Amino acid sequence: MPSSFNSLPLSADMLGNLETLNYTEMTPIQAEALPLILEGRDLIAKAKTGSGKTAAFGVGLLHHLRVDNYRVQALVLCPTRELADQVAKELRRLARATHNVKILTLCGGMPLGPQVGSLEHGAHIVVGTPGRIQEHLRKGTLKLEDVSTLVLDEADRMLDMGFTDAIQAIIGECPSERQTLLFSATYPDQIAQLAAHYLREPAEVSVESLH
Ligand code: ADP
Ligand code: MG
Repeated sequence: MPSSFNSLPLSADMLGNLETLNYTEMTPIQAEALPLILEGRDLIAKAKTGSGKTAAFGVGLLHHLRVDNYRVQALVLCPTRELADQVAKELRRLARATHNVKILTLCGGMPLGPQVGSLEHGAHIVVGTPGRIQEHLRKGTLKLEDVSTLVLDEADRMLDMGFTDAIQAIIGECPSERQTLLFSATYPDQIAQLAAHYLREPAEVSVESLH
């Protein structure tokens, strides 16, 4: 199992940035998941909080991003605004070496107007909670036709919070030709059903320890 980011086919800019972040070794979930994500595989990843999941999918989705296309190419769904903010913050750190990557956070509890205004200017990556993402889809202020990577982060918590219908509606708006990455701390039946419906021949990785 490779443990250094340098063993992966990443750009020199990305590798340099990881070094400035002091990310020298991959965490276990990154070592397991990143090679599969870079290959374009769908993935079910079972890992605990603090295991470095954000960089596992973040490095992958930044690698596949086309910066000249200012349409949403990656959508990350999170259970809460706090988690979405954390993910967006980490993605911005990871994207420092990739010029002009625009990352938008779309969560409930925030006014809609500024979000609509930001969306009009275009964005590469959207991080948000299912309810608010669905609201933007209904209003036609968010389009997912160019999404090539969909991330379900903390999927078990999203289902616990009653977001199943919203998630299904959102996935229905994404192109069927896409990469879907599902992260979950636990793996109850509802997660298995979701994965069976929406993931394509997913690879499965499971990491128990944090480091
Ligand atoms: P999770 O989503 O699994 O709870 P995070 O993605 O938030 O975990 O990462 C947890 C912490 O570990 C963050 O502070 C992040 O900056 C740090 N981290 C992630 N990957 C690495 C790495 N390869 N080396 C060092 N620190 C890392
Ligand atoms: Mg996380």
